[in-house]
Amino acid sequence: MSEGIVTVSYIGATVLFILALGGLSHPETARRGNLYGMIGMSIAMLATIFGVVTGNYALLIGALVIGGAIGFTLALRVQMTQMPELVAILHSLVGLAAVLVGFASFLDPESHFIGVELTIHDIEIYIGVLIGAVTFSGSVIAFGKLSGKIGGKPLTLPARHWLNLILVLAMIWFGVEFVQGSAAGEGLTPLLIMTAIALLLGIHMVMAIGGGDMHVVVSMLNSYSGWAASATGFMLSNDLLIVTGALVGSSGAILSYIMCRAMNRKFIAVIAGGFGTSGGTTVGAEDQGEVVPISAAETAELLVNAKEVMIVPGYGMAVAQAQHIVNEITRCLRDKGVNVRFGIHPVAGRMPGHMNVLLAEARVPYDIVFEMDEINDDFPKIDVSIVIGANDIVNPSAQTDPDSPIAGMPVLEVWKGDTTIVLKRSMATGYAGVQNPLFFKENTRMLFGDARESLDEVLKGL
Ligand code: NDP
Repeated sequence: MSEGIVTVSYIGATVLFILALGGLSHPETARRGNLYGMIGMSIAMLATIFGVVTGNYALLIGALVIGGAIGFTLALRVQMTQMPELVAILHSLVGLAAVLVGFASFLDPESHFIGVELTIHDIEIYIGVLIGAVTFSGSVIAFGKLSGKIGGKPLTLPARHWLNLILVLAMIWFGVEFVQGSAAGEGLTPLLIMTAIALLLGIHMVMAIGGGDMHVVVSMLNSYSGWAASATGFMLSNDLLIVTGALVGSSGAILSYIMCRAMNRKFIAVIAGGFGTSGGTTVGAEDQGEVVPISAAETAELLVNAKEVMIVPGYGMAVAQAQHIVNEITRCLRDKGVNVRFGIHPVAGRMPGHMNVLLAEARVPYDIVFEMDEINDDFPKIDVSIVIGANDIVNPSAQTDPDSPIAGMPVLEVWKGDTTIVLKRSMATGYAGVQNPLFFKENTRMLFGDARESLDEVLKGL
């Protein structure tokens, strides 16, 4: 394949990746966005395999088959609720690849060093390995935390910010050593020491982040993995990898910023760690009074007699896979003339857009699904709110308890409506581990049980 065709293919793939990002920004165009991404990636791979790679085809195909088989099996098996941990572990592979390419590029400059000045190439290697190592170890810890293999509690060493600063300064110092020593063939030791420090920094940074802020970390690591890929592109003089990495890096950074804003967090403060660490006042259920249970039949009756209904889905709806039955209830109520709307919190569930994806899958019409900012003022006019497996996103203590780990996070103000019905299995806390005063309010009723089973009963009642 000629160089010209490779260049054209790379430009085509870049355009498709940009279209993919554009498409993914709305549920209606997300499928198309995914398709653009898949076509772009196929073109990129074919152009690279047939136009850039010059030998070792057996090794390459062997790796592609093994990697593809693992990816295929994982994608088939993963539950929607395990998506963030899968994404975290995939980021770790991007980081690891950047580290390996960096070392290969340093140890065998003949086959990788393509026409840039040696010092610049050394800096590319150093930065690539650094970002890659932080991404790798940080993502492995994020995977451990999200999958429950490592406790969600943040590790807050007494002088953690100073520790981070010392690690960063040490890496800069070793960077100078590396670039100066590299020409004399002495760069390996500083490169190895920096890799160890970067791995430590990645572990420390993510260990210090509290449960409720983990999603920001996942999108931040997504951004890092993009920059790591971009650095790999510089090392290999591969333009497509540079551009694609930059796209992932910048979109991940924007997403992290948006999520921080949604959570009312300062981006730098989340990265520096320690949120959700004050311990707060995790008030036990017994301190807050009695809850009032309600049956599915009573819930159905309240719903048919309502004019305005707001459905607030959360992580529990995903666990129960209750979205289809929610859609049926919605249809049934709308047929009876009830105005049903959905209120979506930006961090509901376990990944950005989680609820939108589930509702779209169940074919809930988009025009009745609203973002938190669009409908939060409407709650005083709502007759019945149904909170389906949500907890943190409807917790009033975010507004009233400055010591709460979720203090300051905007929440859906369901308690301002006439009646709130909360569907969950027990009095267990949500992701942030804090009790919810909403459950004990006078106008709240608890419908205990698995959300899908409860809603099945409600539908029968309707
Ligand atoms: P929460 O985790 O706060 O609460 C979910 C509730 O669902 C639990 O209290 C649980 O109670 C209930 N539940 C679980 N399974 C079922 C079931 N089968 N049937 C009925 N109820 C069930 O979820 P929210 O959506 O309210 O909040 C999201 C939280 O996750 C926030 O703290 C956010 O910061 C965090 N997060 C968000 C990410 C994102 O990108 N969206 C990523 C990572 C974390 P019970 O056990 O009693 O049933």
